Amino acid sequence: MGNSLRKLGIANIAARTETSEKAGMEKSVLDFYGEDVFNAKTMREYLPKQVYKKLLATIQKGAMLDAGIADDVANAMRRWAIGKGATHYTHWFQPLTGSTAEKHDSFVEPDSMGEITLDFSGKTLIQGEPDASSFPSGGIRTTFEARGYTAWDPTSPAFIKRDERGATLCVPTAFCSYTGEALDKKTPLLRSMQAVSEQAKRVLACFGERPEGRVVSTLGAEQEYFLIDKELYLARPDLIQTGRTLFGNTPPKHQQLDDHYFGSIKARVLNFMAEVDEKLWTLGIPAKTRHNEVAPAQFEIAPMFEELNLAVDHNMMIMEVLRNVAEKHELRCLLHEKPFAGVNGSGKHNNWSLSAPSGNLLEPGKNPRENAKFLTFLCAVIQAVDTHADLLRATVACAGNDHRLGANEAPPAIISIFLGEQLTDVIEQIEKGSAKSAKSGGTLRIGVDTLPELPRDATDRNRTSPFAFTGNKFEFRAVGATQSCAGPNILLNTIVAEALDDIATKLEKVEKPNFNVKLQKILQGIIKKHKKIIFNGDNYTDAWVKEAKKRGLPNLKTTPEALKVLLSPKAEKLFAKYGVLSEKELRSRHEVYLEGYETVIAIEGELSLEIAKTMILPAATRHQTMVAKNIINLKEVGVQTGVASQKKSLKLVGHLIDDLCGSADALQSATEAGATKSIIAEMANIRAAVDGLEKEIDDQIWPLPKYGEMLFIY
Ligand code: ADP
Ligand code: MG
Repeated sequence: MGNSLRKLGIANIAARTETSEKAGMEKSVLDFYGEDVFNAKTMREYLPKQVYKKLLATIQKGAMLDAGIADDVANAMRRWAIGKGATHYTHWFQPLTGSTAEKHDSFVEPDSMGEITLDFSGKTLIQGEPDASSFPSGGIRTTFEARGYTAWDPTSPAFIKRDERGATLCVPTAFCSYTGEALDKKTPLLRSMQAVSEQAKRVLACFGERPEGRVVSTLGAEQEYFLIDKELYLARPDLIQTGRTLFGNTPPKHQQLDDHYFGSIKARVLNFMAEVDEKLWTLGIPAKTRHNEVAPAQFEIAPMFEELNLAVDHNMMIMEVLRNVAEKHELRCLLHEKPFAGVNGSGKHNNWSLSAPSGNLLEPGKNPRENAKFLTFLCAVIQAVDTHADLLRATVACAGNDHRLGANEAPPAIISIFLGEQLTDVIEQIEKGSAKSAKSGGTLRIGVDTLPELPRDATDRNRTSPFAFTGNKFEFRAVGATQSCAGPNILLNTIVAEALDDIATKLEKVEKPNFNVKLQKILQGIIKKHKKIIFNGDNYTDAWVKEAKKRGLPNLKTTPEALKVLLSPKAEKLFAKYGVLSEKELRSRHEVYLEGYETVIAIEGELSLEIAKTMILPAATRHQTMVAKNIINLKEVGVQTGVASQKKSLKLVGHLIDDLCGSADALQSATEAGATKSIIAEMANIRAAVDGLEKEIDDQIWPLPKYGEMLFIY
């Protein structure tokens, strides 16, 4: 039988007994939260007072790092980490591959007597030199200068990664070339945070606010994922190698009944989630929400929001913890944007805001002055997103996400902003200037009037918008489930910095008595010019696609189209002006991302071919033989009944086999030629044949676990 893995897997799952809930956590989260993080509390305990103060200033105020304290900090980290059972340390960084990277070194230093000491110097803490020549750099590094170096990011605390035998001290770092160019996602993220802080402070100064500290970007990243049983996963080479199913029919029951969303969580999954939360809390990651998502076997985890840089690191760690804990529970966590055709894919909801020492700048205020400030920052975001909608789309472009954004699944590739009815009314009032507004019975004068009460009720929200204002933050919903949040937030910070720069430049010239009038004019101008980006309707409809086209909004359906925008003079100017990415860095990113995309498609193409030819075709021909033999047998015993219908079904299978083989030849040529577009087209053709065969062939010999099994059996 060729079906052993699939059928055996199901039998093994059925035989499992461990499904009961545990008795609850043995210790209180209060006792272990942040236990494996070199956080402020630990620093105070391990560092001399003066050193602690200096380090804290670096972290909180974004002050320059005093190199003189590095030895003390390293020493403290080493003692702390060794106390936790660590044998190794690593600089933990985020290369352009989109994942995290680490290379472990042990603390062990042999001396001349054949003994050892355990060492970790300030120099090693601050700077590392991983042999990183294999990371993509998009032509920034030639091999003779291949090394690159990692540089400590003190704003994201060091943490301990545990394994069964020991532990590793992980030091979050930026990754640069020897000439100082960014080779990672953290470096431009930190630069963009600096840029938006500077411009936001200029605008705040116009409102008479001069905070000492920074204006920080905040992020709460909601993470969607699928869980399937290990047994079935292992019988799917496509899941193993590409993270998604290249074949498979949507089962009769999937998400039509909406019976999974927010449903009660199965014991096995809850056990998994409980362990995930425990791990995350140990790492000081504020896991908050967990629930069933829309598709069967789909779930979500959301932490409390944090300062952007930390939140991005934490999201990377969350993905790793999800994967690792799933394995411990005989499950596999799928983070791909579209693991299963025909059911919902997975994204990340990127909740972004700006926070000054005085509070959230995207939160409507309680008095006219506060509101004027809020509306100014709101208009800055509107201007920013409208001016650079194409770039925002580019930041979420990858092969996996094309299945969500470009296809018939939300959110669409067209970027628009949802403001909600009330806020849109306010915006329209500002645009009209002194005209009367029917809805609120008056006109809003900036700096004089208060805002109407804006609803914060989640039920009122538009779920189809890619970029929605949700009361005190913007939720960018187009980010892919596997993607790092760094990219989209680098862009958000930079484009909002540009808009704030523009506003500040105008406001700085205004005399105090004219301030409100002049501000109203500036905001009116922004709204007039950029309101085309605002759309409160259903983003999933064809009518919106047409309307968006009329408005001139970009609709970049595929990754290559979207990535091309990175090469535009507009993009170059933007990133260079705010010191976020040089022209060279930007071009290198375009190259790396495009190559990554093409590589993914090439792998999927080759694997489609392999599975179709070596797993599906043999099953199909075996089925043919069985049916053909049966027809012969029937004829031999002189029974004609049933022969005609079996012949008919045999013909259908034969046609599908022809289709499969025809597409296989075409796919082979496309992969050999490296023709990405043709590979995608031929993969769709071969899939149609395979999925057709799945519906005809004896279930006993079908080799791949079916959707209905993967999504419901665990
Ligand atoms: P939902 O959007 O599903 O209704 P919430 O409003 O509770 O849920 O928030 C979703 C995410 O947005 C959470 O991670 C939350 O911490 C985050 N969030 C809330 N306020 C902010 C903020 N000011 N900046 C960034 N993220 C925020
Ligand atoms: Mg949300």
